[in-house]
Amino acid sequence: MKITNCHIHTFTIEDVPNNFIPLLGPLVRFKLLRFPLRLLLKALIPFTDRDLLDRYSKFLRISHLSSQEKIFKTVKNYYPSGTRFIILPMDMKYMSAGKAQRSLDNQHKELAQLASKFQDEIIPFVAVDPRRKNILNMVQDLIENHGFRGIKIYPPLGYYPTDRNLYPVYEYAVENAIPVMSHCSRGGVFDRKKITDDMLTHPDTGETLKKLKPKDFTDYYTDPRNYEKVLKDFPDLKLCLAHFGGSKGWEDYLYHQWDENSPGEEKSWLSKIMDMIKSEKYPNLYTDVSYTILEDENYIHILKVFLSNNELIRDRVLFGSDFYMVEKEKILERLIPMKMRSILGEDLFETVVETNPARYLSEFNNE
Ligand SMILES: [Zn+2]
Repeated sequence: MKITNCHIHTFTIEDVPNNFIPLLGPLVRFKLLRFPLRLLLKALIPFTDRDLLDRYSKFLRISHLSSQEKIFKTVKNYYPSGTRFIILPMDMKYMSAGKAQRSLDNQHKELAQLASKFQDEIIPFVAVDPRRKNILNMVQDLIENHGFRGIKIYPPLGYYPTDRNLYPVYEYAVENAIPVMSHCSRGGVFDRKKITDDMLTHPDTGETLKKLKPKDFTDYYTDPRNYEKVLKDFPDLKLCLAHFGGSKGWEDYLYHQWDENSPGEEKSWLSKIMDMIKSEKYPNLYTDVSYTILEDENYIHILKVFLSNNELIRDRVLFGSDFYMVEKEKILERLIPMKMRSILGEDLFETVVETNPARYLSEFNNE
């Protein structure tokens, strides 16, 4: 069995805008300060769960490794040899958090070199933001000349996936059977821009939106329902909504009741994605379990029920971990594929780690 982890990151602290973590960000850039800073954090917050702090400092340590190769080698060692990884870069230039130390072009360039060094193991995607100029040229060049095989978008950084500047990119993706991966859980990395009155109308539905804090408002960009429009306009687009609704979506689904027939009531994002898949209207819609599945071991058992109960769901779930974002979580990267294999059983495990990723990546000749 050949595992494909469909969702990891290797970008470094150089790709993260200066004000991403206010105060802490600039401080941790200085190597000499990092260790005393970690001790200081521990001393200042003695009652905080020590374990969480240890995990946070592990996360900081990885993001400060000096190259994507070093970060990649860390994750590679957690998996059996022959495992493949989809690497998702990030374009954080337009999220109103200042400037990053290096350009997106250079982040892509380093990833291209890394992917050519580990050809059988790395599947690189292009990071796309509709506010950047000439994105179609960038996508074409990286895919046609540098071995990139997919496109990554991250709407909470400040745009709707229905942004018309993305349409030529979607068109190109359809024509060339290039898959798109989109971040689709609440929160995450979000645009810091102040919410102004002219932003309070949904561009597709015309609905009036609530003036929330940026952290919450950006959920309007991310909402799974935005993709109904994208997939109506591009029914052949291979699209993965990452994180299967996110842990908030799983909590809402498991612990809150809602009345399906009451118009004001919001469904959990997990249900929204499952309903879209089950509707049979979107045969090229996928989701991945990255991050979410590492938050609670119970979720693996629940995933097994979803996969066993419905063939459509079974064929559309991809394995992914969200390394190194998940270094903050309790279940360790090394254990996750083993736990999934043990709980899901050989057949279901093979479906999500091998069969479905191959179909998403258009690797079957007859499709
Ligand atoms: Zn991710």
